[in-house]
Amino acid sequence: MTLILAYMYGYPYGGWGYQFHWWDLLVIPGVLLGMYAQMKLSSTYSRYMEEPVANGLTGAEAARRVLDAAGLRSVEIYEVPGHLTDHYDPTKRALFLSTENYHGASISAVGVAAHEAGHALQHKEAYAPLHLRMSMVPVVNIASMGAWVAFFLGMVLSGIRAVSPGTGTLLMEIGVGLFSIMTLFHLVTLPVEFDASSRAKRQLLVLGLVTREEQEGVASVLSAAALTYVAALTASLFELLKWIMILRSVNSRDDDR
Ligand SMILES: [Zn+2]
Repeated sequence: MTLILAYMYGYPYGGWGYQFHWWDLLVIPGVLLGMYAQMKLSSTYSRYMEEPVANGLTGAEAARRVLDAAGLRSVEIYEVPGHLTDHYDPTKRALFLSTENYHGASISAVGVAAHEAGHALQHKEAYAPLHLRMSMVPVVNIASMGAWVAFFLGMVLSGIRAVSPGTGTLLMEIGVGLFSIMTLFHLVTLPVEFDASSRAKRQLLVLGLVTREEQEGVASVLSAAALTYVAALTASLFELLKWIMILRSVNSRDDDR
């Protein structure tokens, strides 16, 4: 919404009407990688959804075995509606699996469920990146709102002659600062996700829940899922770069005034 307003405003030179700037092209890598990652995930996920695991375990049963083997009997597993809504909630210390992965007895279901159990294992072992990520959540919630508001407001103010140029750019700098926190959050997410997947693959094999061939299928599904996190980081980095370019452009214009 703020982005649309910003475009209409024709940032950063003021005046209504869309103006093209070269940095608008910076959104392209993130969008393309994001689309590729989504396609890759949905094709890999649905392909292995068709392939049952030899021992007939459902996602919920496989996750239960992984959790129990780690002494995490107190971690409950709940079913949630939606497609790929699976997650581990560290505040509730509980696993939430989407209906198809909770009841599904496929390589995809078992892989995703074991991945979420992997987060519970990280939590138990006080895995540092997980804790860093958890501690960032409240800050990120505020930053994700504040960044856009501060940056857009800063752009508008910097286009108004009556307002001293410093006010606008200061707000834009605050916006960039808040946005960096979000980019950093996407970066911290990567080791957390990759590590949960490697724990899942290891535990499934060690506990004899999947065969070596099935484990390769699990690996394909989880790598495809991990790519969406890489895409999110890429999009965030390029957006940040774009904001920095806009800020620099406003700063150099102000110097000319
Ligand atoms: Zn995860």
